[in-house]
Amino acid sequence: MQAVGKLLVTLVAPVFVAVGLHYGIGMPDIDQRTNLLLHRSIITHSPLIPLILLILASRIGLGLYSFAMGISIAFAVHHAFDLFPRGWAGAALISIPFYGWTPGLFSWIWIAFTMCACAYLAARLVQGWLDKVWYLFGFIYIFILTAPKEHTWFGPVVALAVAIIVLGRTVLLRRESDEA
Ligand SMILES: [Zn+2]
Repeated sequence: MQAVGKLLVTLVAPVFVAVGLHYGIGMPDIDQRTNLLLHRSIITHSPLIPLILLILASRIGLGLYSFAMGISIAFAVHHAFDLFPRGWAGAALISIPFYGWTPGLFSWIWIAFTMCACAYLAARLVQGWLDKVWYLFGFIYIFILTAPKEHTWFGPVVALAVAIIVLGRTVLLRRESDEA
């Protein structure tokens, strides 16, 4: 019975990852639909939402792990593209409530930090070797879907590759030695 349950979770996991990816990719830009937040708000353009989901996943479990992984991967990809705007002015900048838009350098550092943090959080949610496959596939899949709508793809690819190799890999490899 346990084996059947495990098989079900294994089969359903990629579906939850995909749902997370599709919800997550546009999620930081919900600031545009509020009257309260300026665009590229530091509240939605931050690891806050993925972090809350990671905490919920560790408490509740079930498919939430895979969903949170999808959201985190999508956030990392979203910020990889946000890292390469046409110019560092206006709505490309990170905004802070009651303060306004921050300087270009701060915005750049914050977006790079968020991208790295989300790639790391997604890696933390990896539980078995199959999850490692969904982790990498997730990045490739949502990147390919997003790139045609953006004006550049080379910079984001390099930024994500660095984030995954530096941050994702350490977690993925550590888990591997834990399992052995
Ligand atoms: Zn954005």
